[in-house]
Amino acid sequence: MKTLQIYNKKTDSIKRKHPWIFSGAISSDVSDFENGDLVKAVDVKGNFLAIGHFQHATISLRILAFEEIEIDEFFFKNKLNEAFHLRKSLHLLHSNNNIFRLVHGEGDGLPGLIIDYYNGVAVVQCHSIGMYKSLDLINKALQNILGKDLKAIYSKSADTLPNKHIALDQYIFGNCETPHIALENGIKFNIDWINGQKTGFFIDQRENRKILGMISEGKKILNTFCYSGGFSLYALQNGAISVHSLDSSKKAIELTEQNVNLNGFQEKHECIVADAMEQMKTAEKDYDIIILDPPAFAKHRDKKHKAVQGYKRLNAMAINNIKPGGLIFTFSCSQVIDKNLFTNTIIAAAIETQRSVRIIGQLHQPADHPISAYHPEGEYLKGLILEVN
Ligand code: SAH
Repeated sequence: MKTLQIYNKKTDSIKRKHPWIFSGAISSDVSDFENGDLVKAVDVKGNFLAIGHFQHATISLRILAFEEIEIDEFFFKNKLNEAFHLRKSLHLLHSNNNIFRLVHGEGDGLPGLIIDYYNGVAVVQCHSIGMYKSLDLINKALQNILGKDLKAIYSKSADTLPNKHIALDQYIFGNCETPHIALENGIKFNIDWINGQKTGFFIDQRENRKILGMISEGKKILNTFCYSGGFSLYALQNGAISVHSLDSSKKAIELTEQNVNLNGFQEKHECIVADAMEQMKTAEKDYDIIILDPPAFAKHRDKKHKAVQGYKRLNAMAINNIKPGGLIFTFSCSQVIDKNLFTNTIIAAAIETQRSVRIIGQLHQPADHPISAYHPEGEYLKGLILEVN
């Protein structure tokens, strides 16, 4: 196994169990290292620090273990077992719910790996070449952990690996026709991991949809950036009088329509294919609740400023438009925009509108998207409920 030497002054974060080693921390020549190599990090005296997947990138090593162990099928079995145990203890797998995130990267001690579970189908998404090269081990470990309930494993990493690496999106175990029906809190969703965005569904909003459901009765609701209609379905299930779902993607709106029909809610539902900002300019002014769940405006630090402007503009428009006493569920899933910056941006938007705005709820990612205490960067989804007068 190749060895990576770390500068003395850069070992502290590794000793604090931070799972990333940046290129600037490495003192050895890595020119003959291959992307995805399993390598050992040592200090200048040669003492073992960690083992992980190497990649020629700013994050050069994603750490899998801080002790000298084999990274084999047994390792993945152990990690997946722990991850599955947590989800089961959270009651995410029962007669009313069979959609959950089984592995959330660093939060589950597996940097670079995402696995989403949809009623017997595991969709595996690799964000590092090392994880992609470990697919066989992950495949075997998954079959072992999930046993007879597992119908299929679909590998979907073509969009999440660096361009130079060609990943095949395909079934690596079993097969399952799409769309495939799965349940979230008793609501049926058609999941299409092949043609859908990301792994097919945005599981991270489950708890926030539930909160919306609790206050939807008798309300007129606009769900912007709706994708497959998650928020809309919870609102309709809980007695909303009218729900308008908006997305700029025609495909997303088709998914929403399918899901509305699947649950028999078509009567009180309307779809809009449009740009959210454009639509907001002319939108009706009598919504009781508006949901704003845009895609990440900033994927990198250098886009942060522009992203803040984007969130401010979007939120100011919604605050301006909503009827007195109305609520706005507003979110950001940009990891580089932290909770404070997001809140301050929303406050700036409120000030611009001159309306009276109160923060009555603070929202976040759910428990199956855990944040390692040693990797606070794992917190990415934040939201606020605003009451506007
Ligand atoms: N709220 C959704 C997830 C939103 S993902 C859920 O609960 O499942 C973000 C969505 O925003 C995507 O479906 C994307 O197609 C849509 N989108 C991106 N840019 C947009 C724009 N300018 N106007 C409207 N929708 C947009």
